[in-house]
Amino acid sequence: MEKAVKSRTVAEPYKIKMVETIKTTTPDYRSWAIREAGYNTFLLRSEDVYIDLLTDSGTSAMSDNQWAGMMLGDESYAGARNFYNLERAVREIYGFQHVIPTHQGRAAEHITSQLRIEPGQFVPMNMYFTTTREHAERAGGTFVDCIVDEAHDAASEFPFKGNVDLAKLRRIVDEHGADSIAYLSIAPSVNMAGGQPMSMANLREVSEWARAHQVAIIFDATRAVENAYFIQRREAGYADKTVRDILREMMSYGEGCTMSSKKDNLVNIGGFLATNNEQFATAAKEMVVIFEGLHTYGGMAGRDMEAVARGIYEMVDDAYIASRVQQVEYLGGRLRDAGVPVVLPIGGHAVFLDARRFLPDIPDDQFQAQSLAAHLYVDSGVRGMERGMVSAGRDPVTGDHHRPKLSLVRLTIPRRAYTNLHMDVVAESCIALHRERDKIRGLRMVHEPRSLRFFQARFELLD
Ligand SMILES: *Cc1c(COP(=O)(O)O)cnc(C)c1O
Repeated sequence: MEKAVKSRTVAEPYKIKMVETIKTTTPDYRSWAIREAGYNTFLLRSEDVYIDLLTDSGTSAMSDNQWAGMMLGDESYAGARNFYNLERAVREIYGFQHVIPTHQGRAAEHITSQLRIEPGQFVPMNMYFTTTREHAERAGGTFVDCIVDEAHDAASEFPFKGNVDLAKLRRIVDEHGADSIAYLSIAPSVNMAGGQPMSMANLREVSEWARAHQVAIIFDATRAVENAYFIQRREAGYADKTVRDILREMMSYGEGCTMSSKKDNLVNIGGFLATNNEQFATAAKEMVVIFEGLHTYGGMAGRDMEAVARGIYEMVDDAYIASRVQQVEYLGGRLRDAGVPVVLPIGGHAVFLDARRFLPDIPDDQFQAQSLAAHLYVDSGVRGMERGMVSAGRDPVTGDHHRPKLSLVRLTIPRRAYTNLHMDVVAESCIALHRERDKIRGLRMVHEPRSLRFFQARFELLD
């Protein structure tokens, strides 16, 4: 139920006040640079990158209002005014009363996992996220994938591929009882499925199920605003509601959230844990002091908390969020129309190249997505990242690679940072590579870190 697309162009609801020069390089230079980086785009120097689509994490352009807020940082150790501004913003926009700042999202995940998971318990998620699963496993939990099957099918155009499959939740309860579940970790929209949203109807159903079984929902709210925008666009009954109201309703189905402010909140660093469960909040405040800092700064400077507080209000501006998601759709649409295999529908924060269909002759064990990301960099200086077998890591029990059904290259669009002409450059490079795909070779892994290996693994090009 997409809203009718307006026939007149709608431009970004902001203009540019400050610019940053980006460097162009030659293909020969980039061939050298990627070899030096072990064919891992995480190991490139950012100076050698022309258009950086590695991640939308911490790469947003802040507004003049946020920069002005940075000058109002209260750098007192305890009780800084910026903390109270942050607390007010989270209460108003997310609806959670207790707010504990952390230096970024994974720190909130660490605290949540340690406090809420008993060894041996299950942590169902609508698809894994790297750091979320790692922290759950470190706390002795076992991740269970509970997303709908459509999410694992790159060609399915189901509009809510982020939905939870209730049958998968019921199976855990049937086999192990509801007590075996630590909590439901629900991420709207789902990063690893291609930035795919869940519907409000599904969320409501999941929350009814969770209440009936006395299982808590703790959101990974990292990109919940992008999900709220998709609900406004696609779900019956929401076209006339604001993104702000939709987000508030979504969050009302959970008892709290972990948050990476480096995404939706439009800042370069920050995060928080927020909850309406007072007991959990008290325990989390005790723990944040050990790992992050006092509970009124949790690893953030006062000025950074102020930028987050202001970013939270800016992110729910309907014109801003529409323009953000539409830029992603613009890039995705150009690729789709040119026959480049991408995950459909186009997600909220990134366009995902489907590496198995892009490079059908390169087997999984030669890391086709890792190789595609490296070749894209050599072609145009555009940096994406692998989201496939390398990112999925190894099964801690069997020691074999996790073999996810999707092998993707993620082209993630930073918020408010690039224009659609940059998107044209990216599209043309992907289209050119797709035309010359038979020249692309696979890789061999020559260095493998034990956890979160995708960050630092090194590869060599096969002959
Ligand atoms: C980025 C991210 C995290 C982790 O947050 P950091 O701020 O990078 O520590 C958790 N979940 C999702 C879905 C993310 O995208």
